[in-house]
Parts: sequence; structure tokens; C-alpha cells
Amino acid sequence: MKRIASYETAPYRTELEVEVVAVRREGDRTFAVLDDTILYPEGGGQPCDFGWLKGVRVNDVRQRKGEIRHYFDEGELTVGRGLLQLDWERRFDHMQQHTAQHLLSALALELFGWHTRAFHLGENTSDIDLDIAAPRSEDVRTLEDAVALQVAAAKRIRTHRVDPEEYRTLEVRSRGLPAGHVGDIRLVEIDGVDLNTCGGTHVGLTSEVGGVKILSSEPQRGGTRLYWVAGARLRRRLAQHEARGAELRAVLDTGDAELVDVCRLKLEQLAQARRRCRLVEERLAQELVGRLLDRSDDMVDYHLAGVEAGLLRPISEELGKRAGERVGFLTCEGDGRFKFSLVQGESSGLEVNRAGARVCEILGGRGGGSGRLFQGVADSLSRRTEAIEFLKQALRQES
Ligand SMILES: [Zn+2]
Repeated sequence: MKRIASYETAPYRTELEVEVVAVRREGDRTFAVLDDTILYPEGGGQPCDFGWLKGVRVNDVRQRKGEIRHYFDEGELTVGRGLLQLDWERRFDHMQQHTAQHLLSALALELFGWHTRAFHLGENTSDIDLDIAAPRSEDVRTLEDAVALQVAAAKRIRTHRVDPEEYRTLEVRSRGLPAGHVGDIRLVEIDGVDLNTCGGTHVGLTSEVGGVKILSSEPQRGGTRLYWVAGARLRRRLAQHEARGAELRAVLDTGDAELVDVCRLKLEQLAQARRRCRLVEERLAQELVGRLLDRSDDMVDYHLAGVEAGLLRPISEELGKRAGERVGFLTCEGDGRFKFSLVQGESSGLEVNRAGARVCEILGGRGGGSGRLFQGVADSLSRRTEAIEFLKQALRQES
């Protein structure tokens, strides 16, 4: 391996002739080690690059035990010379997000004295942790505006290495060097904006970042986590918002300005309809239970189908209050599911849990009891008559 890999010195390079010096296993994964690489290994908050080595897809790159391992899941690789290609779309996206992070961190420090504690480049959004408990929203807006100015200013970004002695003389914004760091130090400089230690990949001009939008913030261990998107992600995200907005406008038949009010109104109407529905169900259950009790002997048996299936609970509750010495056995069928409940009146002597367990066995299903009510789901109701016969017999034995 070259002492300094090419991804560091030539971040825009998308192809490189390399020597595969070893192909080895690590657990159930296979990786190749090369004499040089243009693929960034995961680190410093930035995910690794993907690419192709002699046409084989490389889907993970990591620094392990002093070497850079290029992992692949499919295909065969052998030692020898070959072409390494970079998945440029993924890389350029990372360069945009990462450079945006430098701008955000540098300007947050310069404008407000907020230090960046951590950086994470995510699949959809990226975030930094700042050491400020609750930033004012106008300050966050000021930060975003300041970043936009630096993006528009097309400032040059350069990287170079310095030895530890020189490093100590420089004014560097840094989260500190990794523990046990030896040798020279890589610096990333944005003209007149930032000088920082970093091992990642960056765009050459701030204008290539395209744009940065801060999305939201949330408290994070005494500080604040700031979420943002940059570059092509910003346009993609806006496109998603536009598509979603258009769909919502069509579904709710209204314009952007009224969307939230219309949603609130619909939810309120829904809540009212639910309250009304519950009231009607209760009344209906009272009515139905009255009729069932009028015509039954020691056992009330009733099957609810279709939309009536939703009444299982209110009817069971009503029966529980009014069944007296009797027992109610209700079954229902709705949305392709079968349910039943076994309800015991206040003065009935049936052991409802034991009887319920037996009904589960007969119908094939499971359930549980609480107080005088046993509820269960059944695989089918084809043996419903058998369950009723069993319950009648159990009741005769009680009396
Ligand atoms: Zn960086």
C-alpha cells in the first residue's frame, strides 16, 4: 500500500490501475488488499465508498489491522493487476455532505462559539452535535444563511499534511486527534473559513456543495443535534415534498395554505363520528341483549357477521351486566377472522376460565379470561355447535 492512498490526494479520480496483493477471508466475508486505492474506507463520520474491482462489486471498505480491506459478496478475485472503479454518484454525494459539515461546524463556532462534538453522515440526512443546549431558532437561521453565502462564494478547499511540530503552531479547529496518533497530520482548509484536521473526502470548491438546508434540531446529551441535507439530496428531498404535497392536495381537495386546517377539521370530525358510533353501538347492544335474553333459556347464543362483528365487545359487556344466572356465548366473523367470547352472568356458577379453555380446544384457537369474561380467537367456527353442546352440558352439571 502506498503510504498515502489516492482517495486522499485525488478525490476526483474515478478509475485507477491497481495491484491486488492479497485476497483473504474475514469470518464469512471475502476481501481484497490493494497496493493503492481510490475508495474511501469508513471513518470520521463518513461512510465508505462503493466501487468495482476488476468488474466485481465492492460494497464495503474498512481500515483493519493496518490495511484497507475491500469487501465483496459476489464474484471471484485473484491477485494481480486490474482496474479499480469508484461509484462516483455515492462518493460525490458524500463529498457534498461532508463539506457542508465543515462549513456548518466552522461557522457555528465563528458566529456563536458553538463547538461540534460529533458528525454523522446518514443515508437520508446528516447531523452534527453542537455543545449548545437550546439554540435560538433565529441563530440557526443565521447559521444557515452564513453557510449559503460561503457556498455561493466558491471558496477553494485544499488538503495538505503537516508534521506534529508545525501542527502545534497552527490555529486549527479540531475535535482533537485520535488517541495514539503518530506521524503527520492531514489538514483540510477552506479559504478564509476553516482549517481543520480531517481524513475524509471533500469537494474542491464550496460552490460544488450546491446548497445546505438545516431541517430540524433536537436536544442531545445537554447539547443539540442539528439535521441537514446538502447538494443533490436537497433537490431530491424537495421533489419528494412536492410529490407528497400534490398527493395530499388531491386527496384532501384543497390548497397548500389550507392543508393543515383541513387535516385538523377532518380529525375532529372523525373523533366526533367515533363518539357517535360508540353511543349507537351501546344502544344497539342494549337493545339486542334485551331481545336475546327474552328468548333464551340458560344460555344465550348469538353469531355476529360482517359489520356487526365490531359489536362483539359492547354486546359481551352488556350481557355480563344483565345475564344473571345465564351464560352468553358469542361468536363473530369479520375481515376473515373468527373471535368468540364467553360471558357469565353475576349469579352463574360456571367456571368460565375452564369452560373457555375447552371451547378453545374445540374451535382450535387461543384465548384468556378476566373476571366473568373469556375472550378468544378461533381458527374456524365449523365446530360451533359442538362448543354449544359442551357449554349446555357444563351448565347442566353446574345446576
Ligand atoms: Zn472533512
